[in-house]
Parts: sequence; structure tokens; C-alpha cells
Amino acid sequence: MALINSQFLKVFNDDIQDRIDKKINRFRAIHRDAPLIALDSGDVSLPLSPGVTEAMVKAMAEMTGEATFKGRGPMEGYPFLIDAIVKYNFQTYKVRIDPDEVFINHGTKEDLVGFGDILHRDNRIATIDPVSQDYIAANVISNRAGVLNESGQWSHIIYLECPKENDFMPEFPKLRPDVIYLSYPNNPTGCVMPRQVMEKWVKYAIDNEVLILFDATYKSFVTDPSVPQTIYEIKGAKKVAIEFRSFSKNAGFTGLHCGYTIIPKDITGYSFSADKSANLNALWRKRLGIKNYTPSYIIQRGAETLFSPEGLAWIRENINYYLGNAAILRRALGEAGLKYWGGVNSPYLWVESPYGSSWKMFDKMLEECNILCSPGERFGPRGRGFVRFSSLANQSRVMMAATRIAEMKI
Ligand SMILES: *Cc1c(COP(=O)(O)O)cnc(C)c1O
Repeated sequence: MALINSQFLKVFNDDIQDRIDKKINRFRAIHRDAPLIALDSGDVSLPLSPGVTEAMVKAMAEMTGEATFKGRGPMEGYPFLIDAIVKYNFQTYKVRIDPDEVFINHGTKEDLVGFGDILHRDNRIATIDPVSQDYIAANVISNRAGVLNESGQWSHIIYLECPKENDFMPEFPKLRPDVIYLSYPNNPTGCVMPRQVMEKWVKYAIDNEVLILFDATYKSFVTDPSVPQTIYEIKGAKKVAIEFRSFSKNAGFTGLHCGYTIIPKDITGYSFSADKSANLNALWRKRLGIKNYTPSYIIQRGAETLFSPEGLAWIRENINYYLGNAAILRRALGEAGLKYWGGVNSPYLWVESPYGSSWKMFDKMLEECNILCSPGERFGPRGRGFVRFSSLANQSRVMMAATRIAEMKI
């Protein structure tokens, strides 16, 4: 019998999802016709831009002509897409990123979770908390997390508490980590990291030789000018930070799968056994050759059109729609007397449970308002006491939900 990677048996959160599913099933069994509004999903509701689908149809037609047919594409992604990314997402903000620092992928999740492949098992990993549990699970399955203790934390992970008093941003850890996951605008708290704070973290990383893995999936939702559009706007960030970005949430690519990772050529890592340092950009290229394919030519042509004037306007409209939803929810939560964060530069609202327990709040939302939200525990033990609402849903449903929330009795 093949031996399995037992770490997969230890990835937690299954029990939390089970508990959610049971509650929903029980509710559905009793209230068969109750119109449930799902504000719990991180998936989007708006469709693709017609420009994207037209480009994909055209690209598909090219596949049938011998002269225009495309076989296996370049390992890092097609230059037409990489060049558009460099020009529109970096040059626009006076940031210099070279085309060979961009790696097209199937979405940020793939690279965020896979990045550990090129890092030694003994790195000390730190992550903000609460946070997407994928970061933790990625380190658990690659045996880097140590053992799970009773409070639901892994012994070798440094959890950087993000308290509400600090707008859900962390303090520097007492113990110096080798790698830090940061993610802003943040899922689940909806909070952002202003420029001065980001500058402090980049300086910390440079001074302490720490690698920052920066999840910028929600960058397009930033409307506040005090928040950088990319971590590379901060001087020195190209020495320490890798940025993960995606077309999923801003352009509806959650089903098509296309994103990209920026790995500046200045970043090196060290190997004790070989007693030398190596360039992470080159290592990642090597890893791609072994392990990954980029999304198809068809999908990359679709993504390219997002950088046309129509494409950029489409993204803006999408973002405005979702932020409009968030504003509707903010108003309703305020009327209900609930305390919340986020929903301004982010599609997520992080709501403090007036009962202390996130599960009690979840039950109340489900039973009284027939609204599904996410209990904070889905994002780690520090999510306790909060629930997350997503504004990535359809606007008429959000308006219905808002009416119910505004009228609820706490
Ligand atoms: C949705 C999400 C992702 C995944 O995005 P894809 O590009 O679809 O893989 C990554 N990080 C966070 C925080 C997310 O919410």
C-alpha cells in the first residue's frame, strides 16, 4: 500500500465547514421555502466582459489554422500579456518591473500555496491572523508547520495577531521569522495597509532579511490614495517582496483561472548545504519547468483585453458595483447597531458579534434574516467573535439582505 502524506489528515477547518453545512442543512430541512441569501462566498457574481469572451473566441478560431495554431506556450506566460501587465499595473505607478519578473499562473492560490516548493522546510513562517487558511494549510502539507496545539495553532508558525484596535494590522513579531505572509486589502477583515505601515514592514524585512509573500488579490478594490497600488511602490520592496495578483475578483476570472506572480530578480535565498545563495526568480523558473503549465493561449488572450481602455473601464465598473454592494451593507449594519470594519477598499465586511460568539451571530443571521455569512473561525482561531459578509453577490440580493439586516433586533 502506498504511504500517504499524513499531513493532509491534519489540515484543519474541515470541522468548521462541517458545522456550517450541518446548520444550513438543518435550516433548509425545516424552512423549505425560505429564501436564503448567500453572503458567505468569496466567489464573484458578475459575468465576464464581452471583450474577454470575444478575444477568447478569436483565439480559439486561431487554433484551427495551421499558421495561427498555438501549441505549448512559453513557460512564464505569453509576452503580450506580460507586457500589458508591466505597462498598466506597474509603469502607471512609476514602478519598474521587468517582463522576466512576471509569471502568469492559474490564479494566486496556485502560486501562494506552491511557493513553499522552493523554500527549505526549516524556514520560520509568520502569517497575519486572522487570514486565509490556505497559507497555513500550504505549510502543513509541506511539513513546515510543526504540531497542532490545543488552541488550534501550529507550533512552528508565528501568528501575527491583527487586533481590531490596530485596524487589523500586525505588530512586528518578537521572534524573527524568515518568511511573512501579508495580505491587504485583507480577506476576511476588509482592512488595508496604508503606505507608512507598508514602509515600516518593508524596512523591517530588509533589516531582518525576511521574505515577504504579499497577497495582493484585492488590489483593484483600493480607492484610498494613501494605500499603495503595489508593494513595489515602496522603496526597497523589490529586494524583499514577492507579490501575488489575480484577475479573479476584479474581472470575474474565478472560473477561467488566470493570475500572476511578481518575483523580482534582486531577491536571493541561501542554501546551507550548498553554502551559497541563489536567485528566487531563477529557482521559480526551474520549478515551473518541472511542475506547472500556464493557462491556455485562449485564456491569456482573454486576460490581455482587460488592459484595453474598454477592459480597464469594465474592471472599474465591476469594482464600483461590488463596492456599491458593500456600501449598502455598511449602511444596514450601521442601522442595526452592529460594529464592522472593511467594505471601503475591499469587498468584505468584518462584523463583530454583539453576542461574543461568531456562531451565535451566524445562527441569528441564518434563522432571523435568512442570510448566510461566514463565522470568523473559518479564518483561524483569531476570527472568533466575528463574522464575514461578502459583497461579491448580486446587487438585488444584497439590497434584500440589507433590508433584513437593518430591521433585525440585536
Ligand atoms: C480568492 C483569493 C485568492 C485566490 O485567488 P485566485 O486568483 O482565484 O486563485 C487568493 N487570496 C485571497 C486572500 C483570496 O481571497
